Parts: sequence; C-alpha cells; structure tokens
Amino acid sequence: MGTVREISIARRTGFCYGVREAIDKAKEARAAGKSTHTLGQVVHNEGVIADLERLGIETVETLDDVDHGAAVVIRAHGVRPDVMERANARGLDVIDGTCTWVIQEHRELVKLVDEGYTIVLLGTPNHAEVVGMLGFAPDAIVVDEEEEWAQKVPRKKRMALISQSTQPPWKFERLAAFMVGRSHELKIVNTVCPVTIRRQEDTVEAAQAVDLMVVVGGRSSANTKELTRLVGIAGKPAIQIEGAGDLTDPSVFEGREIVGITGGTSTPIEDLRDVAEKVLRLAGTPDTAARAAELAEAALAGAATPAGRTTSLPTFVHNESATPASGAA
Ligand code: SF4
Repeated sequence: MGTVREISIARRTGFCYGVREAIDKAKEARAAGKSTHTLGQVVHNEGVIADLERLGIETVETLDDVDHGAAVVIRAHGVRPDVMERANARGLDVIDGTCTWVIQEHRELVKLVDEGYTIVLLGTPNHAEVVGMLGFAPDAIVVDEEEEWAQKVPRKKRMALISQSTQPPWKFERLAAFMVGRSHELKIVNTVCPVTIRRQEDTVEAAQAVDLMVVVGGRSSANTKELTRLVGIAGKPAIQIEGAGDLTDPSVFEGREIVGITGGTSTPIEDLRDVAEKVLRLAGTPDTAARAAELAEAALAGAATPAGRTTSLPTFVHNESATPASGAA
C-alpha cells in the first residue's frame, strides 16, 4: 500500500511562450495546407515530436532536406543570420518561430559588436541558441562552468557580458561580479529569460510544501537540471525524469505523503498531469490510487498556467475547414 495522499503541480509550468509559439506556427502552417518542416526538433520532447509528425510536420536537420517552396519553421532558439539568408535564397517559405526574447538577444549582440566590446557569453557551448547568438557576434567568448572562467575570461579595458536565456540567474550574477575585477568598463546585458526565473521561483516555493519533488524534462535540458539542483538547495529530495513512463519503482515514494511536480520550459503541462496520475497509481494510498485520474486533473487545474496557453492550439484556429489537431501537443 502506498503513502502518497496529496499531489500538486507547481504554478506557471508547461511550455514557455517561445516554445509554444514556435509549435503553434508550425501547426498553423500545416493547417493552411503547406508542406511543413521544422529545422531541428522544435522541442526536445519525443511525445511532442511524435504528435507533430502525426500532423505531417517533419523535423529536418538541414535546409537541404526541404523542397523549394515548402515551409520551414525556425524554432524558438533562433539561427545564425546566414542560415536565414540561405533559407530565403533557396526559395523556402521561411516561418520565423524565433522567440521574441532571443531576437532581442541578437539585437543586443549586434549593438555590442558595433560598440567594440569584447563580449563574454554565458551559455552552453554548442547549444542551438548559443550557436545562433554566435552568428551575430562571432568573436564572443563562450563560457559555462565557473572553473573555466579564470582561464577563459580575458582582462580587457572594455568588456560586455550577455547570457543564453536559460542560464541560472545566480551564475550570471556571479560571472558579472567576477568580470568586474577584469575590466575597466563592464557592460552587463541581462538576457536571462524571466520565464526561467519564474519557473525556478515557483519550483522552490512548491518544494517547501512537499515531501518530494518530481522534476520532469529532458535529461540533457539545462533548465530542468537546474530545477532539480534548486530543490536540493531548498532542502527537499527530488527525482528527475523525462516522463510518466520512467516511473516504475514505487519504493522511491516510500513514506512520502505529499508529492510536488514541476517541469522544464520544454515540458508540456499535460506531461505533468500524466506524471501526477502515475505517481498516485504507483504509490498512492488506497483512496488516492483509486482516484488517480481525477486528482491529477485537479492538480492540473490548480496550476496557474491558463488553459489553452499550455501547449499549443487545441484546434487549427486559422483554417476552420482543416483537419482538427489533437489537443495535446
Ligand atoms: S526560455 Fe524564454 S527566451 Fe527561451 S524560448 Fe522560452 S520564452 Fe524564449
């Protein structure tokens, strides 16, 4: 018999607006009858990719895989300017799903280059967003872990600091403090995304009220790993999984009565509901296990993410005559 008698989902979870809008754009293009592709996985979530494939939206790794005139959606991470130019030159129907926040990062980088700063970019090397950013500032120095800062960050008269959107705010602040000692003039452009900050705050708040947190997101997702780390700092145990299918061992929940669930910015909120249901079926009390589906729906309703803003369009809104999409993205 299990012990979990209560389950909750952290406020303001589900996709961030950048991911959601890129997915919506792909769905809208497909609904309009276009042959639609996304350049790279629009989100690192196998369930979402499978749903898009069912709609006929294909993921391609290079522009060469897209036929002349077909639609190609640029994902929220954005791309280098030469990729955009090449897509246009090839006569593709380019649908720019670059997140507005990332577009702002690109503009800031162009300004910093024009102003002659030595640019330090806090980010994960080879992450798609960082690769795109480097297209606007090829000489920017990418730094990640603190151990490498002393070696990588130069001593220069004029330096600027900017960040990949999903970097932890504490790391950005610490790097800024570190760079103060290495420059005469330091320009700080804080591009840590507010959605990332809110997600972390909500997760830490949720962790206070539970015995265990379940963090749902891609194994390689930096913002998901950071949520797990923060729960630990808040003094609560956490397990990190990719989805409900990863939950098979009830002993993880032994003795836990209240369980909280949160997810990265690439995790659809419906996945959190599925996880809630699985936790209760696996480790709920006789009463909560029997009511798992109902309680999981209630947990979903209790999250502050507004209905219909969580994943993508529930139906193809711009072309009523088109085949309706399923509600889950
Ligand atoms: S995390 Fe923020 S910047 Fe990045 S895609 Fe989402 S909304 Fe945009």
